[in-house]
Amino acid sequence: SPQQPLTDLSAAEVAQVHARQTAAYDALRAQGLGLDLTRGKPSTEQLDLSDGLLSLPSTTRDRSGADVRNYGGLQGIAELREIFADLLGIDADRIVAGGSSSLTMMRDVLVDLMLKGAVDGERPWAAEEKVTFVCPVPGYDRHFTLLSWLGIDTVTVPMLEDGPDVDAVARLVADDPSIKGMWLVPTYANPTGSVVTQEVAERLVSMPTAAPDFKILWDNAYALHHLTSAETKSADVLSLAAVAGNPHRPVVFASTSKITYAGAGVAFLAGSPETVAWYLGHLGKGSIGPDKLNQLRHAEFFGSADGVRAHMAEHRRIIAPKFAEVDRVLTERLGGTGVASWTRPEGGYFVSLDVLPGTASRVIELAARAGVALTPAGSAFPDSHDPDDQNIRLAPTFPPLADVTPAMEAVTTCVLLAATEKLTGA
Ligand code: PMP
Repeated sequence: SPQQPLTDLSAAEVAQVHARQTAAYDALRAQGLGLDLTRGKPSTEQLDLSDGLLSLPSTTRDRSGADVRNYGGLQGIAELREIFADLLGIDADRIVAGGSSSLTMMRDVLVDLMLKGAVDGERPWAAEEKVTFVCPVPGYDRHFTLLSWLGIDTVTVPMLEDGPDVDAVARLVADDPSIKGMWLVPTYANPTGSVVTQEVAERLVSMPTAAPDFKILWDNAYALHHLTSAETKSADVLSLAAVAGNPHRPVVFASTSKITYAGAGVAFLAGSPETVAWYLGHLGKGSIGPDKLNQLRHAEFFGSADGVRAHMAEHRRIIAPKFAEVDRVLTERLGGTGVASWTRPEGGYFVSLDVLPGTASRVIELAARAGVALTPAGSAFPDSHDPDDQNIRLAPTFPPLADVTPAMEAVTTCVLLAATEKLTGA
């Protein structure tokens, strides 16, 4: 049985497992599957939950009487900012409601930092000899490609269950003034599901940094995306930073991409009053106002923070069984084999699977040939380079539940085949 550590087996026994998995793999290929576990997208059934939006707004005036069809209101309409202020635990006047993508806001903030400098900085980052970012890994691929596009160097630290390895982060930032910032997905991180604890958040906002304008890009994309009744609250990073005397260090991002529509939601940015003014000053050079009509229909659709919470419970009802199925198949087929470990996230959109070091790209290649698309090897690391070639990001939300089972069964066959190939030198 593969349920005992493969590394404890004799060479002959490993060869037997290898032969069995080769046969299983050949059978798999013969099935001609066409399954996809690559991107963290909401399923059609999830998108349908928000179709009330399609007949809203019921009026063209916001609460202040402004005509949402017209120019203006750069910070976004107050009623929507208030709902998310409640959910994110941030004052509404420190929140900007913008367009449909928080990733665009992150890019804008980085470009502004490079060209104009930080609100607490001495010069534009682009005027520095070198700019470096701390990247907890595994992490979100688009964060990393954004850095490399801007010529920002990266230094990695391990992402642990309670957030980034904070001792490693503190050591790096204390001495090196080129380290200007770090990425962080604080709640249900992509892809590990890690949740930054209060203690870790406190250390990150209070640690001494050689760069006076060090930034934490606090990408809370999954703040409300619970998979269990625990409904873990994110640390209140802005208040903690203010108390620590570093009020301008965090810039917070969030969006409704995985609450309403991934392509037509509303994105949010938050920070100190100075950070908000800094951001709006730059934004105003390229915009006279956001899509307030979309913002108003979101405010009407939800009605209140509780409306959002009830809506998120509907998402959970749809996607929690898919995550449970991923874990069931992995446990039944790989549990005890010693060649795989994986996360059991309490929220977010991903499961992070670590396979036998040196075999992740082979697993992904085998799966592709069997008709199962997995996120490309290394994509959770800067420059797509996983130094141990062991991490695979699984995204089970988009396929129907009935497809998650065969896709995961195929993945486990590929994991065992790649591991036994390596162990037998095949
Ligand atoms: N941040 C993280 C961590 C994500 O996983 C994603 C979506 N995959 C985004 C940001 C993108 O957010 P948005 O749709 O608001 O641009």
